[in-house]
Amino acid sequence: MQQTARASGRRIALVPTMGALHEGHATLMRKAREQNAAVVVSIYVNPTQFGPNEDYTRYPRDLEADAALCKREGVDVVFAPEDPEIYPGQPSTWVEETAVAKPLEGERRPGHFRGVATVVAKLFNIVTPQVAVFGQKDFQQLKVVQRMVRDLNYPIQVVPVPTVREPDGLALSSRNRYLNGSERAQALVLYRALNVAQSKFRGGERNAHRIQSAMQLAVQLAPAARVDYIEVADAESLTPVTEAKAGDVVLLAVYIGKTRLIDNLILS
Ligand code: AMP
Repeated sequence: MQQTARASGRRIALVPTMGALHEGHATLMRKAREQNAAVVVSIYVNPTQFGPNEDYTRYPRDLEADAALCKREGVDVVFAPEDPEIYPGQPSTWVEETAVAKPLEGERRPGHFRGVATVVAKLFNIVTPQVAVFGQKDFQQLKVVQRMVRDLNYPIQVVPVPTVREPDGLALSSRNRYLNGSERAQALVLYRALNVAQSKFRGGERNAHRIQSAMQLAVQLAPAARVDYIEVADAESLTPVTEAKAGDVVLLAVYIGKTRLIDNLILS
């Protein structure tokens, strides 16, 4: 496939996913098609990016529905490897980004970004794309991948895609499937909190602590919600700021019942 694509002068655009595909993933696929490239979608629930108490075993898997969505979107190749293909043995070699991977998710999920960077490097090596498409929904992951591509000289253009949301504002996520009816309604507090931050900022508030406090109050309106973190950070380094400026990113992770959801927004 790689040879055929190259022989015809077509580039390869890779869309890495963990499956349980939704409209957010579909938007990445459309972005990939716009690159005048053969589109490869990888579907792989990567064990090394899950912590011991995380949802690896119960992560939703539905290859048939995923394949149908890929077909509908005109994807050229679905790459759905089995574990031994990606991890031929107990790995003793890892890819680790050591700056932007440190705070936020990196702090709460030790080893998560090492797993992500390693599997993305493997997918890059196997698929050899010229373009790779990632969602801003996972903002820190996007930054880790951009750093890895720069630092390891991958000849790959990383194309970001803005977060796709439900009509009411909830960011699409495979993990939304875990939510029951009441939790689904309460999950809206993430988006509401981000909007609170944006309107505070637009109203002239620059103190990050006060922005965070206002967001915390918005989240607390949902009885099932428990804040993991709320942070205002520099969008390139992801280090927390005390004085917010335009272009900074507001990120939060909130448990709704047992389900951990993340979201973010750029201040403007
Ligand atoms: P996942 O399958 O959750 O690992 O996500 C695969 C890719 O889809 C990642 O680049 C995500 O950032 C992206 N993605 C997931 N949800 C969304 C969304 N709601 N909007 C945009 N991109 C998304």
